[in-house]
Amino acid sequence: MVQEQLINRGITSPRVIAAMSQVHRHLFAGEALSLHAYKDKSLPIGEGQTISQPYIVAKMTELLDLKGHERVLEIGTGCGYQTAVLSLLCKRVYSIERIESLHSLAKTNLRKGRHSNVMLKSGDGLLGWEEYGPFDAIIVTAGGFASDLWLDQLTDDGVLLLPEGTGKDHKLVRRQKNGNTVDEEYFDDCTFVPLLAGVN
Ligand code: SAH
Repeated sequence: MVQEQLINRGITSPRVIAAMSQVHRHLFAGEALSLHAYKDKSLPIGEGQTISQPYIVAKMTELLDLKGHERVLEIGTGCGYQTAVLSLLCKRVYSIERIESLHSLAKTNLRKGRHSNVMLKSGDGLLGWEEYGPFDAIIVTAGGFASDLWLDQLTDDGVLLLPEGTGKDHKLVRRQKNGNTVDEEYFDDCTFVPLLAGVN
């Protein structure tokens, strides 16, 4: 998976490659799907939601350029796979999931994997998590448009990364805060499950 799907497609960060090699995707994909866990595709995780394909997880992680000292907020915990990868690369991950059963699944998965620098919340990620902000990075793993609250909850040089767009047409966008200005860069086209308001 790492050579064919990540390195051959341009993932170069040694830290990201090491983290992707270390986290066992089959533990997150669930027993029935474990045979498919390392394939080049997204997989269902229940409640109509999916775990992203490995390349997209690696790409998004690489775009955050984590050094190890950061506090990162993730919107859309899902089964906790992306959370686990992030937890190996930064100081602490805070992650919010709007579907209660997936929040519980992620809690079990991350505990099994001994990812202890992770804090999970069941709730609406559009609100951010002010109590623990400001964050060095916010990563959104559902597709849609950014909540204004996210930029407010970033540090002065924080970075916001999300799949932006409507329907199934999303594009990865990275907004780098620079005091009062924000630099924006667009990357891969992709398809994510929708970012939805409220809880379920
Ligand atoms: N990173 C996840 C991907 C899960 S799919 C993984 O590795 O498994 C995206 C998730 O975002 C879904 O579980 C969906 O329920 C959640 N989501 C969508 N809108 C949300 C919101 N406003 N707040 C929190 N979670 C949200």
